[in-house]
Amino acid sequence: MKKTVKDVEVQGKKALVRVDFNVPLKNGEVADDARIRGALPTIRYLIENGAGVILCSHLGRPKGKPDDALRMDPVARRLSELLGAEVKKLDDCIGEAVNRAKAELKPGGVLMLENTRFHDGEKANDDGFAAQLAQGVDLFVNDAFGAAHRAHGSTEGVARLLPAVSGLLMAREIEVLERLVANPAPPVVAIFGGAKISDKIGVLERFLQKADTLMIGGAMANTFFLAKGLEIGESLAETDSLETAGEILEKGGDRLMLPVDVVVAESPDLPDGRRTVAVDAVPAGWKILDIGPETVKRFSDGLKSAGTVVWNGPMGMFEKSPFDEGTRAVAEILAELDAETYIGGGDSGSAVKQAGAVDKMTHVSTGGGAFLEYLEGRTLPGVAALEDA
Ligand code: ADP
Ligand code: MG
Repeated sequence: MKKTVKDVEVQGKKALVRVDFNVPLKNGEVADDARIRGALPTIRYLIENGAGVILCSHLGRPKGKPDDALRMDPVARRLSELLGAEVKKLDDCIGEAVNRAKAELKPGGVLMLENTRFHDGEKANDDGFAAQLAQGVDLFVNDAFGAAHRAHGSTEGVARLLPAVSGLLMAREIEVLERLVANPAPPVVAIFGGAKISDKIGVLERFLQKADTLMIGGAMANTFFLAKGLEIGESLAETDSLETAGEILEKGGDRLMLPVDVVVAESPDLPDGRRTVAVDAVPAGWKILDIGPETVKRFSDGLKSAGTVVWNGPMGMFEKSPFDEGTRAVAEILAELDAETYIGGGDSGSAVKQAGAVDKMTHVSTGGGAFLEYLEGRTLPGVAALEDA
């Protein structure tokens, strides 16, 4: 376990808190504030215990230089509303003006630094950049599990320069996922979907060893269909990963469940013409956009006796109704199970939210890549850099 904010003295300290405020924006406002709300417990804890709070995060993908569309101002405004307290937004994350504001920060005060990715040093994990972030700071708190798989200046570099502990959100992720990795209640069923196999080879390999059953859906299944010699029309697939898919098919044997029927359409924009067909009857030129009802039934049967379920990746193009039906059905099935249910991935998390099933799951992770890498058994640099309890 790692030390958390509760294991150290924070009174009178200036704490640099790495949060995951990489939120969706729309018309210059925060479109979904879930990630901001997720960080509130840590921020409130620090304020109430007399720390000065200096928040930093990345937002989107600016190319190492300022991008007005990706400034943190709307985030700071929303945070201020949620906290019911002033949040002073700065126009850079390092430099003279920032150092002055840090020096003037009072216990209980909150600063929001500018997007860390406005500097190349962030992604390059440059020592000089990290040293500037650390300037005038007593304590580093990492509450950004979703960014912990990246060794960046604000996640890993700065943690090497300061006493470094986890925030409350990060601590919960580590605690829950540690339990999942070390001691999952059997039988373990893993459900994988989404677009690509190549993103997820590591975790697929891992669960080939760990899981009793592996269920595959989404566009990921298409690559497996190809590897089995099936025709998939114009469906999304990864021809580069055919060999990997073949190996997984072989190693998985009976433990691997692929869809038996799929929902196809000529295009996602022509949902009225959609059809449900067996996987060996995909019309030439059509696209597989969801798993079919017979597949949902088989997955449901396979899940009934599960002790632990891990799910990453939607079963279809769930952003486009009605191709969300398979994904929604899986979310509803998991919600009703007695099993422990762990969901990770940005799109998978949204799908569970859309189905109104978040509270019925054991854990919906704030991580995508970080969740997968953790389950794979890899060390996350942003976690490794924190002090052991
Ligand atoms: P997560 O964010 O949960 O890790 P991914 O990013 O791997 O999930 O995958 C989600 C994406 O996969 C979504 O954009 C979804 O539209 C796409 N997808 C899933 N199934 C299909 C399909 N059959 N055809 C096209 N896209 C698909
Ligand atoms: Mg995604």
